Amino acid sequence: MIRCSEKIYNTMDKSSLLITSITFLLLIPRSNGDARTQVIKMFCDKELHDNDTLFIPNYVQAMEVISTDMRTSHNATVKAGTGPNANYVLTQCYNDLSSEDCVLCYAETRTVFPSCYPHNGGKIYLDGCFMRLQNYSFYEEYTGPDDTIVCGNVTKESVEFQDSARRAVADSVTDALRNSEYFAREAVVVAGGGNKSVFVMAQCWRSLSPADCRVCLENASAVISKCLPWSEGRALNTGCFMRYSDTDFLNPILGTGGSKNRGKMVAIIVSVVSSVVVLAVALMIVLYIRRRRYIQQRRRGSYDAEKLAKILTDSSLNFKYSTIEKATGNWDESNKLGQGGFGTVYKGVLSDGREIAVKRLYVNNKFRAADFYNEVNMINSLEHKNLVRLLGCSCSGPESILVYEYLPNMSLDLFIFDEIKGKTLNWEKRFVIIIGTAEGLVYLHENTKTRIIHRDIKAANILLDLRFRPKIADFGLARSFQDDKSHISTAIAGTLGYMAPEYLAHGQLTEKADVYSFGVLLLEIVTGMENNRSNTTEYTDSIVSTAWKHFQQGTVEQIFDPNLQMDVDPNTIFKKDAIKVVHIGLLCTQEAPSLRPSMSRVLKLLAKDDEPLPHPSTPPFIDEKTMELNIITQKLLHDHEGDSSSSVATVSHSQFYPR
Ligand code: ATP
Repeated sequence: MIRCSEKIYNTMDKSSLLITSITFLLLIPRSNGDARTQVIKMFCDKELHDNDTLFIPNYVQAMEVISTDMRTSHNATVKAGTGPNANYVLTQCYNDLSSEDCVLCYAETRTVFPSCYPHNGGKIYLDGCFMRLQNYSFYEEYTGPDDTIVCGNVTKESVEFQDSARRAVADSVTDALRNSEYFAREAVVVAGGGNKSVFVMAQCWRSLSPADCRVCLENASAVISKCLPWSEGRALNTGCFMRYSDTDFLNPILGTGGSKNRGKMVAIIVSVVSSVVVLAVALMIVLYIRRRRYIQQRRRGSYDAEKLAKILTDSSLNFKYSTIEKATGNWDESNKLGQGGFGTVYKGVLSDGREIAVKRLYVNNKFRAADFYNEVNMINSLEHKNLVRLLGCSCSGPESILVYEYLPNMSLDLFIFDEIKGKTLNWEKRFVIIIGTAEGLVYLHENTKTRIIHRDIKAANILLDLRFRPKIADFGLARSFQDDKSHISTAIAGTLGYMAPEYLAHGQLTEKADVYSFGVLLLEIVTGMENNRSNTTEYTDSIVSTAWKHFQQGTVEQIFDPNLQMDVDPNTIFKKDAIKVVHIGLLCTQEAPSLRPSMSRVLKLLAKDDEPLPHPSTPPFIDEKTMELNIITQKLLHDHEGDSSSSVATVSHSQFYPR
């Protein structure tokens, strides 16, 4: 057995590093390797969080702070809020990841983690990093009931492989404790002996004491051995992560300048032929062929990256990151306009005096820069007076950023749900907002270029220009964000009440989901009541069911916004129009999607006085706690699947005909 020097390895690493960095230079600046974003396991706590209104802002704040910290560090702990809705978050990248890959890996945890919502905490293990969130300080915990191993791939009969794995795992415990990063990497490279090589890494969370790290890793090393004779084993412990594999998953060691202690690498070559020279030559040939293949693959990738970079640089849609930083006064707090599920919005002023709104996204789309850019390009091509104009993006900078036209009156929710500001919007203005929003939606649903379902129509997404004319915001980025469950979780308090029952319960998404949300919006505009669930547990108490009850009883005026009633003669057009709008709102929020009118029909009903209005059928009743529809709804949806059968309409109409 000959111990080969580290040089062979390092030579290869340096060249791979060089190739890799050229390839990703533009797409992911200075990324050195593999961010290992594969999710191994996620644990969500059993307990539900206490209070949306407190929990969600804490969550958003904690994520914002930790996102900043993770840009400069491989680990971070953050606390936001107090009491049962506090958010304590810990993130840890494994130390062989470069800073850029660490950010990418963390971004993935950030994207996937919110699917634990509404449970009040959890842990997620990726192959490159870890995140945990709880409502108490857990930073010193190192063992727990969820600790487990994940074994797999193929069985390795080779005793040699198993022995090497055991030895390397044991070494990793000792080595990890020798450095302040609590990280170790081991490699037992067996040449000419089939795939008997073993690669190991161990990482404790930096919040632990050395003694606790030791206990955690010793436990991990004991349990991970149970994975043998499998070719892959991972120990997922409360305070540490360990992995062994027959595949080299470790990232190359960075050059000495930027490198932290990456632990020890042991490279062993088994001499299976008598001549060491022959072996060395054979090894060089193998390495040469592999490198050639690697370079070819990378070159292909780098052409794509170059092409993309060129498009981005040449495009008028591309905003330089520095331009945006300058426009927003370096993200000055005083320029902050608001905060949503995707990111924080700032006001900015460009050097030519143009005002812009800048959305700084929580999730970095750099990995999908091409998709992101294409989508921005597509949305930019949509033009309608009632759609907020997306001016461009910063797609290749260190953060993902969207740049919109700035609407000085901000969003509709800031008016209609505010006792004082609500007075600014008289009925005439509200009706203009209603018609304009309907027109914008008709355009989205029916334009020939790309039919778009908005999915998030709500008062906060209706922006108002100087003269209170409406423009729909946040449309069209559905594809870029389809995997981003965080949006649902962080925005859910405001959005849930707007979601069509079939979308909420079964994920069935058609234009009729937007029609439903638009119906809710109509009811809000007339009543000034917010359709969120913060004070209620039952969907039956929502604005939709309140309006339904009053509509049936012929007492709709009772729920008009007091701000509208102030100077209104009961016989004016306002009353007639407002009752009609409530009626149309109820048509839009009918339980069966097939019964809801299309947006162009809605627009006609709103705009024309002589259009006969059909009677609305029942709105949905959903237990939001279980997300289950009632039995009638389930049946209606089931019957409805595939077409808009008349039986659906008959059942609803005959059973729930209003008085
Ligand atoms: P979500 O994105 O989760 O649906 P949201 O729509 O409330 O929630 P954002 O789109 O992030 O959140 O916007 C936050 C707030 O910033 C808006 O409610 C609005 O008040 C303000 N805002 C957003 N875009 C603009 C803009 N183009 N001009 C002026 N104000 C804006």
